[in-house]
Amino acid sequence: MNRIVVGIDLGTTHSLVAYRREDGQVEVVPDRQGRLLLPSVVALSKDGVRVGWSAREKVNDPETTVIYAAKRLMGRSFEETEAERRSLTYPLVDHKGSPAVPDPFRNRFLTPPEIGALVLRDLKNRAEEFLSQEVSEAVITVPAYFNDAQRQATKDAGALAGLKVLRIINEPTAAALAYGLGSGKDGLFAIFDLGGGTFDFSLLDIRKGIFEVRATNGDTHLGGEDFDRAIVAAWLEENPKLSALAERSEVRDLLRKEAERVKIALSHKTEAEVVLPAVGFRTTLTRARMNALVEPYVDRALSCVRAALADAGTATSDVDGVILVGGSTRFLRFKEAVAAFFGKPLFDSVDPDLVVAEGAAVQADILSGRRKDLLLLDVTPLSLGIETIGGVTSTLIPRNTTIPAQAKELFTTYVDGQTNVDIHVLQGEREMAKDNRSLARFTLSGVPPLPAGTPRIEVTFQIDANGILEVTAREQTTGTMSNVVIQPSYGLDKDDVRNLLKEAFSHAQEDFATRLLVDAKTEAQTVINATERALERVGSDILPDADRVAIQNQVKLLKTTMEGTDGRKVRDETQALDRLTQPLAERLMNQSLSNALSGMALPQEGGSHA
Ligand code: ADP
Ligand code: MG
Repeated sequence: MNRIVVGIDLGTTHSLVAYRREDGQVEVVPDRQGRLLLPSVVALSKDGVRVGWSAREKVNDPETTVIYAAKRLMGRSFEETEAERRSLTYPLVDHKGSPAVPDPFRNRFLTPPEIGALVLRDLKNRAEEFLSQEVSEAVITVPAYFNDAQRQATKDAGALAGLKVLRIINEPTAAALAYGLGSGKDGLFAIFDLGGGTFDFSLLDIRKGIFEVRATNGDTHLGGEDFDRAIVAAWLEENPKLSALAERSEVRDLLRKEAERVKIALSHKTEAEVVLPAVGFRTTLTRARMNALVEPYVDRALSCVRAALADAGTATSDVDGVILVGGSTRFLRFKEAVAAFFGKPLFDSVDPDLVVAEGAAVQADILSGRRKDLLLLDVTPLSLGIETIGGVTSTLIPRNTTIPAQAKELFTTYVDGQTNVDIHVLQGEREMAKDNRSLARFTLSGVPPLPAGTPRIEVTFQIDANGILEVTAREQTTGTMSNVVIQPSYGLDKDDVRNLLKEAFSHAQEDFATRLLVDAKTEAQTVINATERALERVGSDILPDADRVAIQNQVKLLKTTMEGTDGRKVRDETQALDRLTQPLAERLMNQSLSNALSGMALPQEGGSHA
């Protein structure tokens, strides 16, 4: 049986799972009742944990905790969720720094990845039942603005659900893939994603199969539910009796559901009847009236769009097409407004509820290796490395390396007894650290105090398929280690990459000379230090006076040359000193000396020479 990798859209209000069939068609997997969407809702009650539609029905049950919109909490610390906590109606507590929902019936706390895992597990089961085979690998989508922690939390949710997450991809990228963009069709595309509770706008640059998010903007509290609330508010304003009844939450809920129903009905008619005998309410809502109610939201969405275009330094005329995503883009008024704003063709032939899941399935299929005709090649746009002594860059992963990738290198200390080592992670092509982009700094402490050049510090760079870089430094004798996780592409656009490369090219010669000089001086200083130390320790029994004088003279000469700018001369004289001390070094078996003469040294603590 063929291995199937599924694509999953883990949404704020709805989630879906899709896959690509043998015949190449993408199919969204329905549940037993034939429904494609799964509400991203989890209900905790005495008799069990429910997920999806049946969980959503429990909204007004006082005995049940209904958890929704958990995506808003994904990868955030408890403190970071303060604003969200004010609008959510279920309890959230601080559980070891993470927000968590107490499950009073099972004496546990559910963190956002665990809540996400319940939704994902439901989708996994649904797919397995439908396909009659095990499904254990997935591609999951996230908003383009998700940071590393949010992406990692989403991955964790997948793992908890028993899914190997082959890749996390951006929702706008998925939408573009669903429209077949990227294979032959290049250009700059706008992705307008208006869902139930959030609005995300992205500008996606597609060139030769590489998808690059040029800018994102949006509003984490703008979506279909706001329109429903605006409709309800208008009804209450017109009807004081209804307003009094709406003090009760189940009446409010009934009204909100009705508002959503007529809102959707108004996509294909111009007037809708509202009849709610239970609360004695009857009215008619026209499309024109509804459009007037949502007009402020249209303005808010378009101002996000303007801001994104400004950030990317582009105009609507540079945009080749607009892709509509999210159930609320069926709202005709929004469609109209977007079409008028861009004056460009709208991509709306794929169901806006399904388009992200379908795109994820396309990517999943490519990763499954079943299709050889399409290749999404992700490469590092710029070299990655660390700063070493003298402020020079030591590259671990060169640019244009296909990811995922890993590289390891051994480094050592520069100063005797150095117990802390500063690791400065860099991105770029320039020889000197100060000319490259600084990605992160961290300190490896607890290095045993040994002579300079003795500790063996292994630095590992690991980039996963999502472009997330993890840098680890480990001192080999004690095993003490420290690490940092970074997204190197963060805040970097195509123009930046182009400029950085151009700069590196134009400075290549002078960079080379500077580096030669710095490296030569560093090595010279190391050899001088070791030599002087050795001279202090040995008597004439080991080192004849004539040899001592010769060495001292060469040290003096080298020090004078180091004041100049001739890197080659410094190097030659260092080698001369090296030759003079060679017999002595051998006799002493002086580890610190011979070690210091080889290997690359890291700057001392706080000693970034930028
Ligand atoms: P999310 O991505 O946040 O999970 P969805 O993309 O599933 O959200 O969008 C759900 C929203 O789309 C709901 O608020 C729903 O009312 C709205 N919606 C669905 N169909 C229509 C329609 N025809 N007209 C207006 N809004 C619609
Ligand atoms: Mg969505």
